Amino acid sequence: MNIITLEEHFQFPEIQRVVAKYLPDQPAFHQAAYDPPLAQLEDLGEGRIQRMDAMGIDVQVLSNTSARLPALPAAEAVPLAREMNDRLAAAIAVHPDRFAGFAALPTPDPEAAADELERAVRTLGLKGALIAGRTNGRFLDDPAFRPILAAAEALNVPLYLHPAVPPQAVVDACYADLDPAISLSFATAGWSWHLETGIHALHMILAGVFDRYPGLQLILGHWGEMIPFYLARFDEALRPVTKHLQRPVADYFLQQMYVTPSGMFTLPPFILTHQIMGAERIMYSVDYPYIQTEHARAFLEQAPISPADRTKIAHQNAELVLKLAPR
Ligand code: CA
Repeated sequence: MNIITLEEHFQFPEIQRVVAKYLPDQPAFHQAAYDPPLAQLEDLGEGRIQRMDAMGIDVQVLSNTSARLPALPAAEAVPLAREMNDRLAAAIAVHPDRFAGFAALPTPDPEAAADELERAVRTLGLKGALIAGRTNGRFLDDPAFRPILAAAEALNVPLYLHPAVPPQAVVDACYADLDPAISLSFATAGWSWHLETGIHALHMILAGVFDRYPGLQLILGHWGEMIPFYLARFDEALRPVTKHLQRPVADYFLQQMYVTPSGMFTLPPFILTHQIMGAERIMYSVDYPYIQTEHARAFLEQAPISPADRTKIAHQNAELVLKLAPR
């Protein structure tokens, strides 16, 4: 069984040195437990492929979150995105049967980001884009970002909505007044990343983004960033006040979003997500190198689902959505 994973990360040391001077002073982005050896994050060659072989992963769809383009000045983000995407495409070209990629976009300049998405897809062969969190405090439903959403729809490529730290006011209001190490984890991977990303996706639904762009497809990690668990509740509670929307709230989630596990390989959330969304809306991901486990493959092989559903989740959906050659 071929397995394609969609939330697999890398970084370029030279880019990190450039962006370091623009990023505000704040605690480490990841808690120590999630910090992988830098060498693995920076390896886009044989070492990564050996790790993929050891985990039984056939194709990684690569993306960069650590350069944090949404947090950079637009004038810096635009050329950095081009350089990152060029370099990513070059790395993929060496191992085209093992790697694919999502573009990095300079979201602080939405027109340039739309142009870069088109270039990345049409010229470089990347399969969509990954966007980590808000840009200047704004969600992607802000009218300023319409060029990006319109480009993704026109190109028929998905946007992977990745977690990021919420605004400082949210961190202060919800995650402070605890031991600093606890606050940091609580405000990131321990809870807040996922709540923040689920809010981002719901905010886009409620703002009418998916009526405006009915061909737009989002991908969410972590089994849908809490939304499947509450989907019926959202539908029930929000329906009376969402008469401006063409469809029930849940329909947008079920029709215009895909989810992946992002390394969360426990059965109850998978079973819930599978029941709520169906296998057609689930793709696979490990979150390498932050998560590294041979259990990723075993989890899917042993999941209590039909062989047809297993195939869809392992690679068939990804081949369709990302327009990869069937294996
Ligand atoms: Ca990730």
